[in-house]
Amino acid sequence: MRILVSLFLIALIPPPAPAASLDVYVIDVEGGNAKLVVSPSGESMLLDAGWPGFDGRDTDRIVEAAKAAGLKRIDYLVVTHLDVDHVGDLALLSSRLPVGRIVDNGPLQTTGKGVEKRYAVYSAIRDKLPHTTVRPGDRIPIKGVDVQVVSAGMKLIGKPVKGAGQANPACGTAPRPDEIASDREDNMSVGLLFTWGRFRMLDLSDLEGHYSYGLGCPGNLADKVDVYFVSVHGQAKGSSPALENAIQARVAIMNNGARKGGDPQTWPVLRGAPGLEDIWQLHFSVAGGKENNPPDNFIANPEPANCQGKWIKLSAGRDGAFTVTNSRNGFSKTYRPRTGPAAPRLWKN
Ligand SMILES: [Zn+2]
Repeated sequence: MRILVSLFLIALIPPPAPAASLDVYVIDVEGGNAKLVVSPSGESMLLDAGWPGFDGRDTDRIVEAAKAAGLKRIDYLVVTHLDVDHVGDLALLSSRLPVGRIVDNGPLQTTGKGVEKRYAVYSAIRDKLPHTTVRPGDRIPIKGVDVQVVSAGMKLIGKPVKGAGQANPACGTAPRPDEIASDREDNMSVGLLFTWGRFRMLDLSDLEGHYSYGLGCPGNLADKVDVYFVSVHGQAKGSSPALENAIQARVAIMNNGARKGGDPQTWPVLRGAPGLEDIWQLHFSVAGGKENNPPDNFIANPEPANCQGKWIKLSAGRDGAFTVTNSRNGFSKTYRPRTGPAAPRLWKN
């Protein structure tokens, strides 16, 4: 009888739910930025909203990705900085997908290139919504994933994140890139380090190499990551060889357009970093040519004209394994968890 009761109780236990994943839709916004992060908890975070205008093209693409992810709202919209290819059309977006909270780097600090007008339009809507200003070291409390702010407002975290602080031999050989004075707003970028179990990914938005170098030298403040979202759409000014050597990304994903980002100088730096296995791109870069671009299967939109706006989807497990899928043709590749000893540390924490 006791056995029968036990069997009956076992039958009542629901089957295990499918393994949860951390998903990222790297949405094609033609050389701008829009990445939709879906936490294993089901909460969501949109990093930037693409370009305004173009008949709502980028909002349409974000809504389409949200629909594919089964989302009815965006819990956090992170506006990494106020350049036109990131700030999107918040009025239109929030009319189509409710936004729970806006996260940004605070009041406008730069001038020129129309940023004052853009900020006025953006902040009028932002100020009607729940809003948080973040600083390096802060966390964005999306449930299920640790999201740490590593850069914001031209500042970086001052000490290594937990577990980081390793010596970075590349500091001795790869000098700090020169400062590009043309776009201060890029360096206001909110940069985020995501950790879920053993899986880690780094997105510095448009932080230029001159600034991101400080995350890699003199010691590695961020530690190794599995996925690196290439800074500044793959423009040369986004590269910092010392940082890219420090983080040892296995996969780099570039949010370039056909004719924006994807500078020929970028690939040798990415490919020269230890541990890099593949580069995935939203577009074939015309400037890069066949000799630099990865094979077509790793490119969501290979044709320079009549773009279909296909995304790249990343899906990561808690054990550090992850899969990247090209939504154009379904080509996907799974990367098994990383193994191997950690590098010696400079700092203790
Ligand atoms: Zn940009």
